[in-house]
Amino acid sequence: MKKSFIPAPAVLGMLGGGQLGRYFVMAAHELGYQVWVLDPDADSPAGRIADRHLCAAYDDAAAMAELAAGCSAVTTEFENVPAETLAILAEQVPVHPSAAAVSVCQDRIAEKTFLKKNGLPHGPFAEINTLEDLYAAPAHLFPGILKAARLGYDGKGQAVVNDRAAAEAAWLELGRVRCILEAKLPLDYEISVVLARGQDGRVKAFPSAENRHRNGILDVSIVPAWRVDQNAVCVTDNAGDVAEKLAGCLGYVGTLGVEFFVSHGQLVVNEMAPRPHNSGHYTIDACATNQFEQQVRALCGLPLGDSRAHSAAVMVNLLGDLWFDGCKQREPDWAALLAIPGLCLHLYGKQSPRVGRKMGHFTVIGDNAQQVFEGAMQARKVLGLPDA
Ligand code: ADP
Ligand code: MG
Repeated sequence: MKKSFIPAPAVLGMLGGGQLGRYFVMAAHELGYQVWVLDPDADSPAGRIADRHLCAAYDDAAAMAELAAGCSAVTTEFENVPAETLAILAEQVPVHPSAAAVSVCQDRIAEKTFLKKNGLPHGPFAEINTLEDLYAAPAHLFPGILKAARLGYDGKGQAVVNDRAAAEAAWLELGRVRCILEAKLPLDYEISVVLARGQDGRVKAFPSAENRHRNGILDVSIVPAWRVDQNAVCVTDNAGDVAEKLAGCLGYVGTLGVEFFVSHGQLVVNEMAPRPHNSGHYTIDACATNQFEQQVRALCGLPLGDSRAHSAAVMVNLLGDLWFDGCKQREPDWAALLAIPGLCLHLYGKQSPRVGRKMGHFTVIGDNAQQVFEGAMQARKVLGLPDA
């Protein structure tokens, strides 16, 4: 597809109606665009604020035809949109990122094979289709992590497996689906790089974030990530370069999230998300241009914005758990939270809180990384969350 500039107030199409889509709608509106959202959920966070919500399945032919006819360009906020939907839409309307790029990120085996082929750092792995594959897998993959090749997120669809017997049990538990077996790497820490790549191939990477997870779900992102130690300054610089190279190899256009492990001081790519990333939410409050505005700019052929951070930042996810005291539902103490200096609260407008459901986040910003971290820990205390 040739480089094309799409002026506002054109209509942009968004596949997926979650919080990532909601921020895209806001960013697009700020630049004067309209947005149509396709999402099967009648009450999706993005659908609520979109100019139009097409409430249908991602492979609904009529909805796809309407989207293609009504939109000047289409993007996605959800990596599990069928790549075929993107390919079909692309026959009629510019689609970024491409179906090919999204399909690499949708499948853990395609993803790791892509990394290997392009000489990008990755951990050892094996493809598991049958029990025989499990028993033939090299011994150095144990202890390992067995992950369903597709549709996993927030630690779902994966299990730590110490030996082959455990792997067999886990594989049966996962329903004998196509899996990847990865060696369980000793992690010094985890970081991510969110970047945007334009149609002209230019890249703007945001500062990398250090990410801490709880129960398989991102809990906290800390920026700058290099506060960990001296070696980390160089590791995080390098992560930006690796992410940029990776985006180029993918021919990527749009906002991309790249998750890394740092293991024995070495960078290893964990996975990619072909969309804005939870660990990039800090860019809303701490960067001149946020990751969603970059997505709009890349889609519309506009120059990418300044991705530098003007503040140190700590982002904390707010899960549905916070709305419960045992079985009793309650409202978190927003007033106490909002009294904390530098704290920016974001709620996604979801109707029903559920344990593990992402309901919102807050970001504490300021000049000093240490103070910002302490502010975030104070805020966690207010909410009854443990230190991170
Ligand atoms: P998800 O799609 O659920 O985010 P990930 O592959 O990122 O799946 O795994 C979730 C988390 O599990 C990672 O952030 C990391 O903490 C841990 N993890 C995953 N794979 C490995 C591995 N090979 N070695 C060590 N830890 C891992
Ligand atoms: Mg992950």
